[in-house]
Amino acid sequence: MADDYQMPKGELMKGKKGIVTGVANHQSIAWGIACQLAAQGAEIAFLHLPGMERRVQPLAEQLGVKVLAAVDVTDDASMDAAFETVKAAFGTLDFFVHSIAFANKDELKGSFVDNTTREGFLRALDISAFSFVDCARRASAMMPNGGSIITLTYMGSERAIPNYNTMGVAKAALEAATRYAARDLGPKGIRVNALSPGAMRTLSLAGISGGRGMLAKGRSLSAMKEDTSMEGVAGAALWLLSDLGRSTTGELVHVDAGFHIMGFTEDDEA
Ligand code: NAD
Repeated sequence: MADDYQMPKGELMKGKKGIVTGVANHQSIAWGIACQLAAQGAEIAFLHLPGMERRVQPLAEQLGVKVLAAVDVTDDASMDAAFETVKAAFGTLDFFVHSIAFANKDELKGSFVDNTTREGFLRALDISAFSFVDCARRASAMMPNGGSIITLTYMGSERAIPNYNTMGVAKAALEAATRYAARDLGPKGIRVNALSPGAMRTLSLAGISGGRGMLAKGRSLSAMKEDTSMEGVAGAALWLLSDLGRSTTGELVHVDAGFHIMGFTEDDEA
């Protein structure tokens, strides 16, 4: 996020309470989304990975976030405790942001076929896809008046991107889960959508072999010939999480400066 950028202020989220997961530092996509939601009046709780307190606490203070809980999404007891903490503080929820993914570093490089292990595959699917289903179940139970849930995915689910490998398969499962959750929760007035940003410079990207190359390619192969901006992703999140997005559910929204629409480039022409 550009240092001098001010998230548009307003009241689109005034009176709305919700959870943002996945803030690890000021580069996290979840942080950009939280800044935008707070600038529009949302009351936010952070669920962060255990051990991240020292990094997350100062960020929470910047936004006036008072409810924080540690959660490891692979641990049911930790999930129970974290959601209980938020329930005790907020009672009900209006929105939920799932911004969590993990795969072993060894599986995010080279040959997908040769480097994918059973243990690594299941771990990536557990943390990056099943956790979304689990969070959607727990969050929707706290949304008696309807609500909006989003998750973060990447185009490596739709196309084979070098080194993205197991994570691409996990993201494909996550996107399918978004549609099934939207179908289940629609009658309760709960919308469920996925945002698909282009490559962005975060801790998660650093874990992928050739992550810098993904950034450069994302830029040069995009329609707009520019990086995906945090402001653009946060703005799309605001649209989906506020009442502006009221008729949109089960959708996969690309926020990637037009990376996903491109065929071959002029340089590739024979
Ligand atoms: P990030 O590293 O800042 O965020 C990932 C978060 O997942 C971290 O906060 C981490 O603590 C959390 N996490 C990992 N394992 C967990 C567990 N077991 N329990 C609880 N939390 C856990 O990186 P980011 O790029 O902001 O990633 C957020 C989301 O955006 C991810 O789903 C990622 O795949 C997606 N995404 C990222 C990019 C990109 O280029 N950075 C592009 C598209 C989509």
